[in-house]
Amino acid sequence: MDRYCVFGNPIAHSKSPDIHAAFAAQTGQELSYERRLAPLDGFANAVQAFIAEGGKGANVTVPFKLEAVKVAQALTIRARAAGAVNTLHFTDEGIIGDNTDGAGLVADIVRNAGVPITGKRVLLLGAGGAARGVVLPILEHRPAQLVIANRTVATAEALVEQFAALGGAGVVSACGYAEIQGAYDIIINATSASLSAELPPVAATVFAPGALALDMMYGAQPTVFLQFAAQHGAQLRDGLGMLVEQAAEAFSLWRGVQPATAAVLKTLREQL
Ligand code: NDP
Repeated sequence: MDRYCVFGNPIAHSKSPDIHAAFAAQTGQELSYERRLAPLDGFANAVQAFIAEGGKGANVTVPFKLEAVKVAQALTIRARAAGAVNTLHFTDEGIIGDNTDGAGLVADIVRNAGVPITGKRVLLLGAGGAARGVVLPILEHRPAQLVIANRTVATAEALVEQFAALGGAGVVSACGYAEIQGAYDIIINATSASLSAELPPVAATVFAPGALALDMMYGAQPTVFLQFAAQHGAQLRDGLGMLVEQAAEAFSLWRGVQPATAAVLKTLREQL
Protein backbone atom coordinates (compact mmCIF):
# COMPACT_ATOMS: atom_id res chain seq x y z
CA MET A 1 0.00 0.00 0.00
CA ASP A 2 1.41 3.43 -0.95
CA ARG A 3 2.27 5.63 2.02
CA TYR A 4 1.87 9.37 2.46
CA CYS A 5 2.10 11.68 5.47
CA VAL A 6 1.99 15.27 6.66
CA PHE A 7 5.03 16.70 8.43
CA GLY A 8 4.65 19.51 10.97
CA ASN A 9 5.46 20.55 14.51
CA PRO A 10 2.97 20.50 16.16
CA ILE A 11 0.95 18.10 14.02
CA ALA A 12 -1.75 16.51 16.21
CA HIS A 13 -4.32 19.11 15.06
CA SER A 14 -3.85 18.39 11.34
CA LYS A 15 -6.99 17.47 9.41
CA SER A 16 -4.99 16.28 6.38
CA PRO A 17 -5.16 12.53 7.28
CA ASP A 18 -8.98 12.72 7.48
CA ILE A 19 -9.19 14.60 4.18
CA HIS A 20 -6.90 12.20 2.31
CA ALA A 21 -8.60 9.13 3.80
CA ALA A 22 -11.91 10.48 2.51
CA PHE A 23 -10.43 11.14 -0.96
CA ALA A 24 -8.93 7.63 -1.05
CA ALA A 25 -12.24 5.99 -0.09
CA GLN A 26 -14.14 8.06 -2.63
CA THR A 27 -11.75 7.32 -5.54
CA GLY A 28 -11.04 3.68 -4.59
CA GLN A 29 -7.32 4.36 -4.16
CA GLU A 30 -5.42 2.12 -1.75
CA LEU A 31 -3.11 4.27 0.34
CA SER A 32 -2.27 5.20 3.90
CA TYR A 33 -1.75 8.76 5.16
CA GLU A 34 -0.40 9.57 8.62
CA ARG A 35 0.66 12.51 10.80
CA ARG A 36 4.43 12.79 11.37
CA LEU A 37 5.86 15.04 14.06
CA ALA A 38 9.25 16.15 12.70
CA PRO A 39 11.80 17.51 15.20
CA LEU A 40 12.31 21.27 14.78
CA ASP A 41 15.97 20.65 13.86
CA GLY A 42 15.36 17.39 11.98
CA PHE A 43 12.95 17.95 9.10
CA ALA A 44 15.30 16.81 6.30
CA ASN A 45 16.18 13.63 8.22
CA ALA A 46 12.51 12.91 8.87
CA VAL A 47 11.81 13.17 5.13
CA GLN A 48 14.69 10.84 4.26
CA ALA A 49 13.51 8.33 6.90
CA PHE A 50 10.01 8.35 5.43
CA ILE A 51 11.38 7.78 1.92
CA ALA A 52 13.47 4.87 3.24
CA GLU A 53 10.27 3.39 4.69
CA GLY A 54 8.71 3.52 1.21
CA GLY A 55 6.89 6.86 1.43
CA LYS A 56 5.57 8.14 -1.91
CA GLY A 57 4.77 11.71 -0.97
CA ALA A 58 4.14 14.13 1.88
CA ASN A 59 2.45 17.35 2.78
CA VAL A 60 4.37 19.93 4.75
CA THR A 61 2.91 22.38 7.23
CA VAL A 62 4.13 24.92 9.79
CA PRO A 63 7.04 25.47 10.40
CA PHE A 64 8.71 23.49 7.60
CA LYS A 65 7.35 24.99 4.34
CA LEU A 66 10.52 27.02 3.69
CA GLU A 67 12.89 24.21 4.65
CA ALA A 68 11.02 21.89 2.28
CA VAL A 69 12.22 24.07 -0.61
CA LYS A 70 15.79 22.99 0.20
CA VAL A 71 14.84 19.33 0.64
CA ALA A 72 13.29 19.23 -2.85
CA GLN A 73 15.59 18.43 -5.77
CA ALA A 74 13.29 20.15 -8.27
CA LEU A 75 10.54 22.73 -7.81
CA THR A 76 7.37 23.40 -9.78
CA ILE A 77 6.91 26.94 -11.10
CA ARG A 78 4.30 27.70 -8.46
CA ALA A 79 6.53 26.43 -5.63
CA ARG A 80 9.36 28.58 -6.91
CA ALA A 81 7.05 31.60 -7.10
CA ALA A 82 5.72 30.96 -3.60
CA GLY A 83 9.19 30.38 -2.18
CA ALA A 84 7.59 27.61 -0.13
CA VAL A 85 6.64 23.95 -0.54
CA ASN A 86 3.55 22.29 0.96
CA THR A 87 3.65 19.11 -1.13
CA LEU A 88 6.54 16.71 -1.74
CA HIS A 89 6.42 13.98 -4.36
CA PHE A 90 9.02 11.22 -4.09
CA THR A 91 9.60 10.05 -7.66
CA ASP A 92 12.20 7.99 -9.52
CA GLU A 93 13.65 11.32 -10.70
CA GLY A 94 14.03 12.58 -7.12
CA ILE A 95 12.07 14.75 -4.69
CA ILE A 96 9.74 17.20 -6.43
CA GLY A 97 8.54 20.20 -4.38
CA ASP A 98 5.17 21.76 -5.21
CA ASN A 99 2.89 24.33 -3.63
CA THR A 100 -0.85 23.69 -3.88
CA ASP A 101 -2.01 26.33 -1.35
CA GLY A 102 -2.62 29.05 -3.95
CA ALA A 103 -4.40 26.72 -6.37
CA GLY A 104 -6.52 25.59 -3.40
CA LEU A 105 -7.52 29.14 -2.55
CA VAL A 106 -8.38 29.99 -6.15
CA ALA A 107 -10.41 26.76 -6.59
CA ASP A 108 -12.36 27.60 -3.45
CA ILE A 109 -13.16 31.12 -4.67
CA VAL A 110 -13.92 30.28 -8.30
CA ARG A 111 -15.43 26.78 -8.10
CA ASN A 112 -16.91 26.53 -4.61
CA ALA A 113 -17.99 30.13 -4.04
CA GLY A 114 -18.77 30.63 -7.74
CA VAL A 115 -16.99 34.00 -7.79
CA PRO A 116 -14.80 34.63 -10.86
CA ILE A 117 -11.49 36.43 -10.31
CA THR A 118 -11.10 37.51 -13.92
CA GLY A 119 -11.71 41.24 -14.31
CA LYS A 120 -12.30 41.72 -10.57
CA ARG A 121 -10.61 44.05 -8.08
CA VAL A 122 -8.80 41.93 -5.49
CA LEU A 123 -7.40 43.13 -2.16
CA LEU A 124 -4.90 40.82 -0.46
CA LEU A 125 -4.23 41.61 3.20
CA GLY A 126 -0.84 40.38 4.40
CA ALA A 127 2.45 39.61 2.68
CA GLY A 128 3.74 36.60 4.64
CA GLY A 129 4.13 33.02 3.43
CA ALA A 130 0.43 32.41 2.81
CA ALA A 131 0.00 35.64 0.83
CA ARG A 132 3.09 35.01 -1.27
CA GLY A 133 1.81 31.57 -2.24
CA VAL A 134 -1.46 32.89 -3.65
CA VAL A 135 -0.23 35.81 -5.77
CA LEU A 136 0.71 33.78 -8.88
CA PRO A 137 -2.50 31.66 -8.94
CA ILE A 138 -4.60 34.84 -8.54
CA LEU A 139 -2.73 36.62 -11.36
CA GLU A 140 -3.21 33.60 -13.63
CA HIS A 141 -6.95 34.41 -13.46
CA ARG A 142 -6.31 37.94 -14.79
CA PRO A 143 -7.88 40.21 -12.13
CA ALA A 144 -8.41 43.86 -13.10
CA GLN A 145 -6.35 44.84 -10.08
CA LEU A 146 -4.48 43.16 -7.23
CA VAL A 147 -3.58 45.37 -4.28
CA ILE A 148 -1.37 43.84 -1.60
CA ALA A 149 -1.70 45.68 1.71
CA ASN A 150 0.58 44.92 4.62
CA ARG A 151 1.53 46.35 8.00
CA THR A 152 5.19 46.27 6.92
CA VAL A 153 4.83 47.92 3.51
CA ALA A 154 8.32 46.94 2.32
CA THR A 155 7.35 43.25 2.42
CA ALA A 156 4.33 43.92 0.20
CA GLU A 157 6.51 46.02 -2.13
CA ALA A 158 8.94 43.12 -2.47
CA LEU A 159 6.04 40.91 -3.59
CA VAL A 160 5.01 43.49 -6.16
CA GLU A 161 8.56 43.61 -7.47
CA GLN A 162 8.56 39.83 -7.84
CA PHE A 163 5.19 39.55 -9.56
CA ALA A 164 4.55 42.90 -11.32
CA ALA A 165 5.63 41.68 -14.75
CA LEU A 166 3.29 38.67 -14.56
CA GLY A 167 0.23 40.77 -13.77
CA GLY A 168 0.51 43.19 -16.68
CA ALA A 169 1.04 46.94 -16.54
CA GLY A 170 -0.28 48.52 -13.36
CA VAL A 171 -2.28 45.50 -12.19
CA VAL A 172 -0.31 44.65 -9.02
CA SER A 173 0.48 47.28 -6.40
CA ALA A 174 1.40 47.52 -2.73
CA CYS A 175 0.42 49.86 0.10
CA GLY A 176 -0.05 50.20 3.84
CA TYR A 177 -3.51 49.79 5.38
CA ALA A 178 -4.07 53.54 5.68
CA GLU A 179 -3.39 54.02 1.96
CA ILE A 180 -5.92 51.48 0.62
CA GLN A 181 -8.13 53.26 -1.88
CA GLY A 182 -11.52 52.31 -3.26
CA ALA A 183 -13.69 49.22 -2.97
CA TYR A 184 -12.86 45.61 -3.89
CA ASP A 185 -14.85 42.63 -5.17
CA ILE A 186 -12.69 40.03 -3.39
CA ILE A 187 -10.93 40.74 -0.09
CA ILE A 188 -8.61 38.01 1.22
CA ASN A 189 -7.26 38.07 4.77
CA ALA A 190 -3.90 36.29 4.54
CA THR A 191 -2.58 37.84 7.75
CA SER A 192 -2.16 35.86 10.94
CA ALA A 193 -4.10 38.57 12.85
CA SER A 194 -7.12 36.28 13.20
CA LEU A 195 -5.03 33.85 15.28
CA SER A 196 -4.92 36.50 18.02
CA ALA A 197 -8.49 37.70 17.36
CA GLU A 198 -7.23 40.94 15.85
CA LEU A 199 -8.65 42.80 12.88
CA PRO A 200 -6.28 44.06 10.16
CA PRO A 201 -6.95 47.85 10.20
CA VAL A 202 -9.01 48.07 7.00
CA ALA A 203 -11.79 50.61 6.45
CA ALA A 204 -15.37 49.40 5.95
CA THR A 205 -15.29 51.07 2.53
CA VAL A 206 -13.07 48.30 1.06
CA PHE A 207 -16.11 46.04 0.65
CA ALA A 208 -17.79 46.69 -2.72
CA PRO A 209 -21.50 45.76 -2.90
CA GLY A 210 -21.73 41.95 -3.04
CA ALA A 211 -18.02 41.53 -2.24
CA LEU A 212 -16.55 38.20 -1.20
CA ALA A 213 -14.52 38.28 2.03
CA LEU A 214 -12.29 35.27 2.66
CA ASP A 215 -10.22 34.62 5.78
CA MET A 216 -7.56 31.94 5.38
CA MET A 217 -8.10 30.94 9.00
CA TYR A 218 -10.95 28.59 9.91
CA GLY A 219 -12.70 27.55 13.09
CA ALA A 220 -16.09 26.96 14.67
CA GLN A 221 -16.76 30.71 14.93
CA PRO A 222 -16.29 33.39 12.24
CA THR A 223 -13.06 35.34 12.72
CA VAL A 224 -13.19 39.01 13.73
CA PHE A 225 -12.37 39.86 10.11
CA LEU A 226 -15.34 37.84 8.82
CA GLN A 227 -17.61 39.38 11.48
CA PHE A 228 -16.50 42.85 10.34
CA ALA A 229 -17.03 41.90 6.68
CA ALA A 230 -20.53 40.56 7.48
CA GLN A 231 -21.46 43.89 9.08
CA HIS A 232 -20.62 45.52 5.75
CA GLY A 233 -22.64 43.20 3.56
CA ALA A 234 -19.93 40.86 2.26
CA GLN A 235 -20.39 37.23 1.35
CA LEU A 236 -18.18 35.17 3.73
CA ARG A 237 -15.74 32.26 3.35
CA ASP A 238 -13.22 30.91 5.81
CA GLY A 239 -10.06 28.91 5.03
CA LEU A 240 -11.57 25.43 5.34
CA GLY A 241 -12.40 25.25 1.63
CA MET A 242 -8.84 26.30 0.78
CA LEU A 243 -7.51 23.55 3.05
CA VAL A 244 -9.63 20.86 1.35
CA GLU A 245 -8.85 22.16 -2.14
CA GLN A 246 -5.06 22.29 -1.57
CA ALA A 247 -5.30 18.67 -0.39
CA ALA A 248 -7.26 17.73 -3.53
CA GLU A 249 -4.52 19.28 -5.69
CA ALA A 250 -1.86 17.27 -3.82
CA PHE A 251 -3.92 14.08 -4.09
CA SER A 252 -4.32 14.50 -7.84
CA LEU A 253 -0.59 15.18 -8.22
CA TRP A 254 0.29 11.97 -6.36
CA ARG A 255 -2.47 9.70 -7.66
CA GLY A 256 -3.44 11.15 -11.05
CA VAL A 257 -7.10 11.27 -9.95
CA GLN A 258 -9.00 14.46 -9.08
CA PRO A 259 -11.21 13.86 -6.02
CA ALA A 260 -14.56 15.60 -5.47
CA THR A 261 -14.37 18.00 -2.52
CA ALA A 262 -17.92 19.14 -1.62
CA ALA A 263 -18.87 16.20 0.64
CA VAL A 264 -15.46 16.21 2.37
CA LEU A 265 -15.76 19.93 3.07
CA LYS A 266 -19.28 19.45 4.44
CA THR A 267 -18.14 16.68 6.82
CA LEU A 268 -15.17 18.71 8.07
CA ARG A 269 -17.42 21.72 8.63
CA GLU A 270 -19.79 19.62 10.76
CA GLN A 271 -16.81 18.44 12.85
CA LEU A 272 -15.47 21.95 13.65
P1 NDP B 1 3.33 34.67 8.29
O1 NDP B 1 3.81 34.72 9.69
O2 NDP B 1 4.26 34.28 7.18
O3 NDP B 1 2.77 36.14 7.89
C1 NDP B 1 1.94 36.83 8.76
C2 NDP B 1 1.30 38.04 8.05
O4 NDP B 1 0.30 38.59 8.90
C3 NDP B 1 2.28 39.17 7.75
O5 NDP B 1 1.89 39.80 6.56
C4 NDP B 1 2.08 40.09 8.97
O6 NDP B 1 2.42 41.43 8.71
C5 NDP B 1 0.60 39.96 9.17
N1 NDP B 1 0.13 40.25 10.52
C6 NDP B 1 0.37 39.56 11.66
N2 NDP B 1 -0.29 40.10 12.70
C7 NDP B 1 -0.97 41.17 12.21
C8 NDP B 1 -1.85 42.14 12.79
N3 NDP B 1 -2.15 42.11 14.10
N4 NDP B 1 -2.38 43.08 12.00
C9 NDP B 1 -2.09 43.11 10.67
N5 NDP B 1 -1.26 42.23 10.06
C10 NDP B 1 -0.71 41.28 10.83
O7 NDP B 1 2.03 33.74 8.33
P2 NDP B 1 1.41 32.89 7.12
O8 NDP B 1 1.41 33.75 5.93
O9 NDP B 1 2.08 31.58 7.04
O10 NDP B 1 -0.09 32.58 7.61
C11 NDP B 1 -1.12 33.57 7.62
C12 NDP B 1 -2.47 32.94 7.91
O11 NDP B 1 -2.89 32.08 6.86
C13 NDP B 1 -2.51 32.08 9.19
O12 NDP B 1 -3.70 32.41 9.89
C14 NDP B 1 -2.58 30.66 8.67
O13 NDP B 1 -3.23 29.81 9.58
C15 NDP B 1 -3.37 30.86 7.40
N6 NDP B 1 -3.18 29.77 6.40
C16 NDP B 1 -4.25 29.01 6.02
C17 NDP B 1 -4.13 27.99 5.08
C18 NDP B 1 -5.34 27.18 4.70
O14 NDP B 1 -5.19 26.13 4.04
N7 NDP B 1 -6.52 27.58 5.04
C19 NDP B 1 -2.84 27.69 4.44
C20 NDP B 1 -1.76 28.57 4.87
C21 NDP B 1 -1.95 29.56 5.82
P3 NDP B 1 3.94 41.97 8.87
O15 NDP B 1 4.67 41.55 7.62
O16 NDP B 1 3.79 43.43 9.00
O17 NDP B 1 4.49 41.31 10.11
